[in-house]
Amino acid sequence: MEKQKRNTKTKQMVLDTLLNEPVTARCHSDIVQQLDGKIDRVTVYRILQGFCDDGLTHKITDDTGKTYYALCRDCSAGHHDDDHIHFRCVNCDTVSCIKAPQQMPRLPRGYRASGMSCFISGYCPNCLPPERNKRPKSAGAKVKLTGRKK
Ligand SMILES: [Zn+2]
Ligand SMILES: [Zn+2]
Ligand SMILES: [Zn+2]
Repeated sequence: MEKQKRNTKTKQMVLDTLLNEPVTARCHSDIVQQLDGKIDRVTVYRILQGFCDDGLTHKITDDTGKTYYALCRDCSAGHHDDDHIHFRCVNCDTVSCIKAPQQMPRLPRGYRASGMSCFISGYCPNCLPPERNKRPKSAGAKVKLTGRKK
């Protein structure tokens, strides 16, 4: 009973890190870091796997093979329905779930799709060089395009 309680609390802590920014996906080490060493890496990994099984989170693998975890919306245990776009910011290295209509490309004869996962790279709203939304007010400030957040 006691152990059960502690498990629930640990799970809740991991879930909370994801709930902070619901559309942003986190990688494993990112979550471990955010928990500030309160939960060890292996436990976090196991909890995340459990969340995926329960339909709470989904896994995203980017073009470099790095895995991210993000919250699901309408998924249930054993059934995921996450056919949405994922966007990776090349500047701050965050991955976001994007709810936008996506269209299945026309496939050559003989191919039948059963799912689709789309990965887009670019700049997120936080990192986008402010050229389109330029306002006269900020004319005095020099725009640095090479500025990095980290
Ligand atoms: Zn899902
Ligand atoms: Zn960014
Ligand atoms: Zn997603």
